[in-house]
Amino acid sequence: MARRIQARRLEGVDKNIWVEFVSLAAQYKTVNLGQGFPDFSPPSYATEAFSKAITDEHSLLNQYTRAFGHPPLVKALAQMFGPLFGQELNPLTNVLVSVGAYGALFCAFQALVDEGDEVIIIEPFFDCYEPMTLMAGGQCVYVPLRPKPADDGRPPSSNDWRLDLAELEAKITKKTKVLVLNTPNNPLGKVFDKEELEEISHICVKHDLLCISDEVYEWLVYDGKQHVRIASLPGMWDRTITVGSAGKTFSATGWKVGWAFGPDCLLKHLRVVHQNSVYHCATGAQEAVAQGFQKELERLGQPDCYFVQLRDELQKKRDWLYHCLTEVGMKPMMSQGSYFMIADISRFKSEVPPPTDDNIPYDNYFTKWMMKHKQLASIPVSAFYSTPHKKQFENYIRFCFVKEDATLKAAEKILKKWSSESTGPKAQ
Ligand code: PMP
Ligand code: GLN
Repeated sequence: MARRIQARRLEGVDKNIWVEFVSLAAQYKTVNLGQGFPDFSPPSYATEAFSKAITDEHSLLNQYTRAFGHPPLVKALAQMFGPLFGQELNPLTNVLVSVGAYGALFCAFQALVDEGDEVIIIEPFFDCYEPMTLMAGGQCVYVPLRPKPADDGRPPSSNDWRLDLAELEAKITKKTKVLVLNTPNNPLGKVFDKEELEEISHICVKHDLLCISDEVYEWLVYDGKQHVRIASLPGMWDRTITVGSAGKTFSATGWKVGWAFGPDCLLKHLRVVHQNSVYHCATGAQEAVAQGFQKELERLGQPDCYFVQLRDELQKKRDWLYHCLTEVGMKPMMSQGSYFMIADISRFKSEVPPPTDDNIPYDNYFTKWMMKHKQLASIPVSAFYSTPHKKQFENYIRFCFVKEDATLKAAEKILKKWSSESTGPKAQ
């Protein structure tokens, strides 16, 4: 009998939306509103710090640094985030720097989820939570956010998507160990408000659950809303790992610097995974991010703070994209945070030849058709759903608006031309 080569933990996790769609977007030379990355540079002081770190011949910044985070970076992270969590953070025990938020999340799932443990995942969800749970031997239990349109005539918004707390509680069993939260949420742009988070935190405390809170878009919250950290709520610090990303914070997704905050009793287990897998991430990038936080700490919340400037810039881009999508009849859902906005493509269905394979969710087929025939890339929202639920929201696609105005205008040109040539019902 032939010997099985691959480990069993790889079963069911072999497909990856980013691998597939990044390659297609390049192949069809698309205007890319698909994968979430800025097509502009990080702030120049950060790129200069990176470049200086690796070209200064007297520095050791091209060499290994401390395994769990470059000392200046963990110090800056502790200083910046301590007050935001309402905790005195010890840089050596309450902060772990890893290879992007992906690295921090992977350490968290490996460290906390055991064979047979159940993990609550709120749908739609950033796709990696599912394979990371499965690779740790856990079982995913999905709880949906459902759209409840406002009855006051307001346009649809990501915040109309609500969690039914009774439904959440009904899914908890003796095996439930972890709840995964993502706010602001990718792909909806929903920002959980304080009341929702308090209710979720009561459930975590009541059922003694751990919480992995992915907050990579924490600075990108629009319309004056506040980002609330669940770890700052009563009873939550000791049971929460909060994950962040320099990629999103400083518009430098390629640097792959991310982190986890938490109590030492949890973080010490993440450190074991980290030290035995990646050991540490690029020193030069960590040094630049450390300098970035040092600088922003001095002007936090002020108009010249990068986090304020980026947020304000992105809110304008979001508004612009919202109007563009509305004009062509794509029915966007106003996003409250993150890089993303979803839109309903029903009106364009008649413009696209019908799919031949009913097993593929319609939005997946549509986005591939649009890349190939219209040279415009987006991401199907079904990619953020578990297999049994993928077809529930297959009329939505996700657009990324952290792009130069020229890129957004190029997308507008494609959509307007397509819309004006279309034979279907026009936008209202
Ligand atoms: N979490 C969410 C919600 C994301 O959108 C992303 C994508 N960037 C990540 C985690 C991974 O972040 P990083 O690039 O820092 O690994
Ligand atoms: N987080 C990014 C997004 O949602 C991309 C992640 C990736 O490319 N793996 O678009």
